[in-house]
Amino acid sequence: MINSLLNKGAILLISGPSGCGKSSLLKKLYAVIDNYYFSISTTTRSPRIGETDGVDYFFVTKEEFEQDIKDNSFLEWAEVHGNYYGTSLKPIYKALDEGKLVIFDIDVQGFEQVIEKLRDITTTVFITTPTLKELEQRLTARGTDTIDVIEKRIKNAQVEIKYTEEYDYLIINDDLDEAADKLISVAKSALIKSKMFDNTTLVKIWNS
Ligand code: ADP
Ligand code: 5GP
Repeated sequence: MINSLLNKGAILLISGPSGCGKSSLLKKLYAVIDNYYFSISTTTRSPRIGETDGVDYFFVTKEEFEQDIKDNSFLEWAEVHGNYYGTSLKPIYKALDEGKLVIFDIDVQGFEQVIEKLRDITTTVFITTPTLKELEQRLTARGTDTIDVIEKRIKNAQVEIKYTEEYDYLIINDDLDEAADKLISVAKSALIKSKMFDNTTLVKIWNS
């Protein structure tokens, strides 16, 4: 019955400083939920070792990205750490129409644009390390970025951490498994927000 009441899918939007553990937590989430769609962003940054085009990101040139902006192809986009990042509209609406949980890993600027457009169906989570020091250690230990890039990310993190209160939930990723359990609970709740259900149909079935 529940499926016949569902209006559309829901959005789970996560933000947090680069290196706080978003990808690690999402991997744990994907192991326990299904019927989700991870929104693959488009970016002008270079792929890291181990990243695949079309899987982690769609890697494009600055010119290609600027053309997409002109064509209004993005639900949201922003410049982060000196590169462009954006969420393409089409696959998002398709996944929502299919009733999926659509997952965004986007920055604070993107968060503000999505909330403005799709507040009712969006649940937001800010993820952080317990301390800035821990963030520096994780970025260094990950070994995927140069010192220059890490410094840029640390600087940006000090700005981003001021926005936690704007999000529905805050997860401090200290112990990975504990933090993953929290994210899983939030993801499950995102799908039962009352706004996700069509009240007219509910009342009809309820009265029958
Ligand atoms: P993000 O996706 O936010 O940039 P990652 O998931 O790539 O972050 O994590 C950054 C680094 O920190 C990785 O090397 C990852 O293995 C490590 N990491 C993630 N969560 C934890 C944790 N709770 N404790 C210790 N290290 C962690
Ligand atoms: P990274 O380069 O570490 O993969 O991502 C850097 C930052 O860009 C992270 O904070 C990530 O959440 C953000 N980001 C990734 N994709 C998008 C996107 O499509 N839009 C916006 N606004 N930010 C994004």
